Amino acid sequence: MARLMGQMMQMPLMISSLLTHAARHAGDTEIVSKRVEGDLHRYTYRDAELRARKLAQALARLGCEPGDRVATLAWNGYRHFEAYFGVSGSGLVLHTINPRLFPEQIAWIANDAADRVLCFDLTFLPLVEKLAPQLPSVQHYVVLTGRSHFPAQTSLPNLLCYEDLVDAEDGTYRWPEFDENTASSICYTSGTTGHPKGAVYSHRSTLLHTYGLVMPDAMGIGGADVILPVVPMFHVNAWGTPYAAPMVGAKLVFPGPHLDGKSLYELLEAEKVSFSAGVPTVWLGLINFAQAGKLKFSTLRRTVIGGSACPPAMMRTLESEFAVQVIHAWGMTEMSPLGTLSLLKAKHAALDATAQHRILEKQGKVIFGVDMAITDDEGAALPWDGQSSGNLVVRGPWVIQSYFGRTESPLVALEGRQWFPTGDVAAIDADAYMQITDRSKDVIKSGGEWISSIELENIAMAHPAVLEAAAIACSHPKWDERPLLVVVRKPGAELSREQMLGFFEGKIAKWQIPDDVAFVAEIPHTATGKIQKLKLREMFKGHRLPTA
Ligand code: AMP
Repeated sequence: MARLMGQMMQMPLMISSLLTHAARHAGDTEIVSKRVEGDLHRYTYRDAELRARKLAQALARLGCEPGDRVATLAWNGYRHFEAYFGVSGSGLVLHTINPRLFPEQIAWIANDAADRVLCFDLTFLPLVEKLAPQLPSVQHYVVLTGRSHFPAQTSLPNLLCYEDLVDAEDGTYRWPEFDENTASSICYTSGTTGHPKGAVYSHRSTLLHTYGLVMPDAMGIGGADVILPVVPMFHVNAWGTPYAAPMVGAKLVFPGPHLDGKSLYELLEAEKVSFSAGVPTVWLGLINFAQAGKLKFSTLRRTVIGGSACPPAMMRTLESEFAVQVIHAWGMTEMSPLGTLSLLKAKHAALDATAQHRILEKQGKVIFGVDMAITDDEGAALPWDGQSSGNLVVRGPWVIQSYFGRTESPLVALEGRQWFPTGDVAAIDADAYMQITDRSKDVIKSGGEWISSIELENIAMAHPAVLEAAAIACSHPKWDERPLLVVVRKPGAELSREQMLGFFEGKIAKWQIPDDVAFVAEIPHTATGKIQKLKLREMFKGHRLPTA
């Protein structure tokens, strides 16, 4: 029997439509950027849309053809924002590269993606000059600046000036419409083991993810918000905020390279920012700065924290001292990135604050569109009882099906469907709130029992003398592995090994308490601000536990 088809307009979901929407319906809403050049730049969505079209025109003039990759090495700023739309919107593929990766990794990624154009902030000129001989596919280098800051000397052949390129166009370009499943951008995973792998997003996946993330049970952002993404535009598209802001017509504030506590605080206040998003480590700096100066936030009301587990102590501080609501979020590059966020349900309203906090500290509920499950090592589904902990698998229209240029499928089968294995170990409770135990590689396996490194870190971070803490597995002759806690003390604070270990008493089972504490000046972080557990484990490879 023939189905009756819907009779609605066939309009492909296009990334360019986000910006044209903002230009038409929030045309005078501002985008403010702290520039690499040092000053503050402000213009509107109307200006941004015109310049993005001029960029699309300029890229076509350079000979770029649909599907070509245009890479960026850039901070959060309006020119990078224009590239998000000018590149993807014209059918090219934006490849945002994390400049904090090792140069060899950057070269590897750019070659894997076969980038044709590389746009970069002035900051990265020396890096790009060093990399250029290793980048045979790159035909055009574009420095994201104007004539007055254009480098007088450079080893780069035919270096182009971004402002010249944009200025040379007349802006008569019209955004094309094409298959919504066309690739829009590529982001590489950090690749802690083996080479990084590219997640290729489409126009469709990006728009669906954007619809999902503005919802009240997700980031809950609207036209009344002023959004400052601290999370870099090279870290999974700043978690979708550069798409979400034009979708709802919200003012955008870009911090450029100025990510220290003082600069962020001043920008948040000056531009009346109401909403922000970033990894826990950036909030450490901001909180410390605000506490030291006894400062408050006058407009900041909500922030999404994710990328690694947000310590409950940080959530409490932001809420009680600064009246900032923390929304704990979980996701990954392969998920565009958002999977879950923690917000309460109506039935939780009657709970006391402590019980509510316990829920909000979890990684949260899925956004409609994503589904999740946990499995045992044989791949069988585990119950949602809040206790059973297993391999977290996900599916959805903004979850990858395969990696760029790889033929093998990363997916696993469960109950007749295909799922992406996240590599995370998690429990899901009866109310469908997910809680990450660990990255599967980071769990501490003590005598056949698992100890969650995140749980140990969360407890340690609540100690007033602790700036940062990381729990890692240390080999043990009897138990195979035992936890070692690596701690950075707050400046001037005193804390002994015994005091630190004593702080765990009564908070977890005795056998889960770390065997030892190592105090260090600094904990290594990855290019996206996560604790580098692999490196820490190497650093403490020979560490002899007192219990061994
Ligand atoms: P990436 O693709 O580099 O963004 O890394 C994704 C990984 O970061 C996830 O698979 C998790 O292991 C970790 N992660 C992200 N958000 C959280 C969170 N809220 N709590 C714990 N781990 C997280």
